[in-house]
Amino acid sequence: VVSAQKLCKSFGPLEVLKGIDLEVHEREVLCLIGPSGSGKSTLLRCINHLEKVDAGRLYVDGVLVGYKQRGGKLHELRDKEIAAQRKDIGMVFQRFNLFPHMTALENVMEAPVQVRREPKARVRERASELLERVGLGDKADAYPGQLSGGQQQRVAIARALAMEPKLMLFDEPTSALDPELVGDVLGVMRQLAKDGMTMVVVTHEMQFAREVADKVLFMDGGVVVEDGPPEQVIGNPRHERTKTFLSRVL
Ligand code: ATP
Ligand code: MG
Repeated sequence: VVSAQKLCKSFGPLEVLKGIDLEVHEREVLCLIGPSGSGKSTLLRCINHLEKVDAGRLYVDGVLVGYKQRGGKLHELRDKEIAAQRKDIGMVFQRFNLFPHMTALENVMEAPVQVRREPKARVRERASELLERVGLGDKADAYPGQLSGGQQQRVAIARALAMEPKLMLFDEPTSALDPELVGDVLGVMRQLAKDGMTMVVVTHEMQFAREVADKVLFMDGGVVVEDGPPEQVIGNPRHERTKTFLSRVL
């Protein structure tokens, strides 16, 4: 579903991604790990073109992200076309950024109704099911301010799922949560993975990565230091840098 070759990205003089290769197949879960500043969020943001790549090729579902090729040259897509590419990609951030003046149910309904112009009744039914699925069937009418961080994050996941994405991107979805709330969110993500969702997850939760990831990719300083199955990268890392990192987070 995601395929990247030699992705590069700089912010001014700062090279953040220095030739990243990445493959995520359908129904796979890829966990991105690495120290702060290593470029994990930037890489994730490139996948839905929230950041423009400077060089390299990135495909989602076989389609070049953010650009089209014409006469041997790449042209950036128009905003409308970029939005069309993004509609199949769900994203969940560290901060849940729900609409504060809308209930949980209304938050989940917003995009299908406003963006896809689907009939409200049908969306409402699907939104209720999604809230059930994330364990919040009884919180449909609660406002974000009345929900715990973990509950808000589960609403954010339901909201992303409401657009029926082919790919879900998570950027440290549990790192802003109180420890006792982390488990519920990881539980929802675990179930999503079981149901066959293709996912790219930036996380510091090594236990989750070990159990749920098909592949783990360790980044440091804008390069992929090591990638492979979790048993290898987390269980038996080959590189000194990976070992050092793991000894700090485990
Ligand atoms: P963390 O674990 O702390 O979230 P990260 O691996 O997600 O780190 P990034 O957020 O991708 O790291 O940032 C990589 C580098 O790029 C950092 O040095 C950061 O300061 C820089 N950077 C990120 N976004 C921008 C931006 N919009 N403008 C300038 N520099 C940026
Ligand atoms: Mg980050």
